[in-house]
Amino acid sequence: MKICIIGGGLVGLATARRLHHTHPGAEIHLMEKEAGVGRHQSTHNSGVLHCGLYYKPGSYRARLAVSGVKQMAAYCAEHGVAHEVCGKLVVAVNDAEVARLKGLQERGTQNGLLGLEWLSREAMREIEPHVGGIAALRVPEEGIADYRGVCDALEKENRQLGTQIHVEAPVKKISPDGKGLVVSSPSIEIHADFIVSCAGLHSDRVAALAGEERITRILPFRGEYYKLRPHAQHLVRNLIYPVPDPSFPFLGVHFTRLIHGGIEAGPNAVLAFAREGYTKWKINPVDLMDALTFKGLWNFIGQHRRMVWNEVTRSLSKRLFCQSLQKLIPEIQESDLEAGGAGVRAQAMDPAGSLVQDFVFIERPNALHVVNAPSPAATASLAIAGEIAKRVPTRV
Ligand SMILES: Cc1cc2nc3c(=O)[nH]c(=O)nc-3n(C[C@H](O)[C@H](O)[C@H](O)COP(=O)(O)OP(=O)(O)OC[C@H]3O[C@@H](n4cnc5c(N)ncnc54)[C@H](O)[C@@H]3O)c2cc1C
Repeated sequence: MKICIIGGGLVGLATARRLHHTHPGAEIHLMEKEAGVGRHQSTHNSGVLHCGLYYKPGSYRARLAVSGVKQMAAYCAEHGVAHEVCGKLVVAVNDAEVARLKGLQERGTQNGLLGLEWLSREAMREIEPHVGGIAALRVPEEGIADYRGVCDALEKENRQLGTQIHVEAPVKKISPDGKGLVVSSPSIEIHADFIVSCAGLHSDRVAALAGEERITRILPFRGEYYKLRPHAQHLVRNLIYPVPDPSFPFLGVHFTRLIHGGIEAGPNAVLAFAREGYTKWKINPVDLMDALTFKGLWNFIGQHRRMVWNEVTRSLSKRLFCQSLQKLIPEIQESDLEAGGAGVRAQAMDPAGSLVQDFVFIERPNALHVVNAPSPAATASLAIAGEIAKRVPTRV
């Protein structure tokens, strides 16, 4: 049996590895359009190990974060990839947020998180001495990891297991071939019995190549970061997050200690003018038209005018970005921040303008398409791979 995986991010790499265990003897190919694996979301993220606090109980995100964080920490330990389960604080700054944070605590408990701890202002300042706010939830199972290192370890392991990794192989066409499919790129053509597409920012387009209707569409939301200058790094020990806005799937700008040193602040969430638009002015006319001609985007903007305006202005103004951060660390100043990197989230949106919250898999007799794998899919990638492998037939 021949299986072709499209996309060499964490989800594709983890799936290829998993299939060697669940489908012994299968010939596994992985096609990646870039010159190497892990060049997009999987290595342009916050580097956090999310343990399942935020997600609706019973959803894929809840289940796969809870099991995935353990699998990811164990994988890092086994393969010598830097990681640390350092815990995080989610900080409420007013009474309304305290009420929402209590809701999160309940949700986390329902999801099976261990050791959640409600902290008074004094208690939270013992853990993070510079934090503002009036109460916090400590989430001890959360941590940080080197996802570049995880990609490299998965690539190495895959090669040892026999996965044929084809880089610079952008899939342009998928056509029927008897009971199977032919997956074509300018450099190589694979005749596969089964395909698994894990194409991140292009997942809707790759699924469409295989005949799926693009009802939901991927909208690229760039997340921009600042870094704390060395003199200000003492202000943050580990991970400090705000209470998220329930109407928005992103977590709000936060502070993250990086596994190899330094502190990042961010990311915000602004529509990118290119699916791989890591800078403000990168425009891809096809991607831009794709977004602008999708009615879901206009519905989304109509429903969230104020938030969209706030995100855009904050992206253009370091002062406003700093003001958001001051809610968490009041003493932080613009002069403490320098420009950092950016990542682009692949976020599926439906025509009504709702952001699809959960992971989404489309299952067909000879294909499985991962069409929405937002955060925490880096943390959960090994668990997602387990879920995918269960759905791949062992024979055709
Ligand atoms: C700013 C930001 C912060 C985040 N923070 C976190 C976090 O702290 N913790 C966490 O768990 N998650 C986080 N996430 C989410 C996480 O990074 C992603 O959910 C995860 O990496 C998705 O992995 P993937 O393999 O699906 O996608 P990707 O890593 O994007 O991989 C998709 C791959 O498919 C390839 N591809 C696309 N089209 C084709 C084609 N036609 N042919 C061949 N190859 C193709 C791409 O080149 C790419 O390599 C964050 C994401 C962002 C953007």
